[in-house]
Amino acid sequence: MRRIGHALASLRWRLTLTFIALLLPLLVLLAGYQFLTLRASLISNRVGELQADFNSARRLITSKEKALGAAITGARFCAAHPLAVGEIVASAVSAVTGQTVQVVVYNSGLTQEAVAPAGASPPTLDSATLEGVVSRGTRSAAKQITTNSGDQLVVGFPIAAGTGACGVAQLSLSMTPITNVLHDEILLITAGGLVMVILATVLGVMLTGRTLRPMRRLTATAEQLAAGDLAARSRLAPSNDEVGQLASSFDHMADRIQEAFAAQQDSEAQVRRFIADASHELRTPLTALKGYIDVLRMGAAREPAALDAALGAMSNESERMRVLVLDLLTLARLDAHRESHPEDFDVNAALNTLLNEGVPGMPAILERSFAPGALFVRADRDAVSTIVRNLLVNACKYAHGAAQHWTTTMEAGWAKIEVRDEGLGIPAADLPHVFERFYRGEKTRAREEGGSGLGLSIVQGLARAQGGDVAIRSAEGAGTTVTVWLPLAPVPPPPPID
Ligand code: ADP
Repeated sequence: MRRIGHALASLRWRLTLTFIALLLPLLVLLAGYQFLTLRASLISNRVGELQADFNSARRLITSKEKALGAAITGARFCAAHPLAVGEIVASAVSAVTGQTVQVVVYNSGLTQEAVAPAGASPPTLDSATLEGVVSRGTRSAAKQITTNSGDQLVVGFPIAAGTGACGVAQLSLSMTPITNVLHDEILLITAGGLVMVILATVLGVMLTGRTLRPMRRLTATAEQLAAGDLAARSRLAPSNDEVGQLASSFDHMADRIQEAFAAQQDSEAQVRRFIADASHELRTPLTALKGYIDVLRMGAAREPAALDAALGAMSNESERMRVLVLDLLTLARLDAHRESHPEDFDVNAALNTLLNEGVPGMPAILERSFAPGALFVRADRDAVSTIVRNLLVNACKYAHGAAQHWTTTMEAGWAKIEVRDEGLGIPAADLPHVFERFYRGEKTRAREEGGSGLGLSIVQGLARAQGGDVAIRSAEGAGTTVTVWLPLAPVPPPPPID
């Protein structure tokens, strides 16, 4: 029972039943219309037949008139022999139709003159109808009258024998043959209607089932997705109907979900890798520090030279840790998309100051070729300082003692800062990875001065956070060039001088 209820609540059955609910009243209307027209047509046929039979009777009356003498007019014959008129009509009509016809003859004053067959008590038309027949003179009037012996079709014909109408001949017939036909018709219509409803239901369920098949596929795909199969797609053939559009939007959405999930997994993996790398980088100076402390505890602290050497090494290790922690903090801020504080400042002046301050290992030759005048950029001043310092440190570290050329130019709305060193350059295998976090070139990995591999990734993150970017060109033995683009500050409007 519950399963039936469940099935009937399905969209497939709801659509079919709605369709049947619309079809039913239409069928009933059609059947009613057909029944009424058939009934009217049967009655009018019968009346037509009676009219023809009555016409034959009239010819008989005329011949009777003629037999009785030309002097007797139709009106007088009718008045003089109403019973004869009735009998002629009754026998003529029943001879043709094969049915018993009861005839009542009225005179022009609408008084009953005769009833045939004798002793019959047929139903009578009301006086208004009879008056209508007499006054119209030529047209009949038909009515269905219910009597104890069943429904009767009662028709009044004007008697216009000879020269004028002399009354009304009322013919009444049993409606049984017509009623039988109508009963059969009702049965037929009902059976036909039932067959149509059953057929419409079966076809409706089949067709809606076929139309809704893509929906079932979509539901199954959605369930697969929910169960974790992110590669599941409906893969329905493209079509322009609503279901086709829904399917293509659904698959598109599933693509997006899969991409987003992959991106999330990717970023989670990156975070895990980052934490592992950071821990690894921190572990090295920490292990060294612990080693020095152990050595001091074991007695080295009592020897001034050993103590001095250990303290110096410990200071170096803590400085490495400090720089590493600062770099990690910068990356964490970049990842959190912390708000930067852009301001308009002259990058030429800022660069000059930073190069003058210098870093350990500054080369003997450091050329500056700056864009003439001031070069205003809109950027975070601290971020630009970190970018320049990291590039300077790298050039001094990895192109130790080699000449450096610093240039600034204005190019298509950008301020371009470029540093070219004449060092050993970066091997082709390392070059695509130098912006990756914790990546260190093959040759520099083991070197004492090698950093933690965060410098260039910080440069890239900071340049992009300013709306700019960074690129590196290098070839082994041909030096390295790093280019940074920063957005130019908008040109201020002219001062309001009258
Ligand atoms: P770190 O912070 O350890 O210096 P970076 O991210 O700044 O690391 O640089 C990554 C790698 O790129 C370095 O290990 C080095 O091999 C290479 N590199 C960077 N700058 C230069 C340069 N000017 N000359 C040669 N190699 C460089």
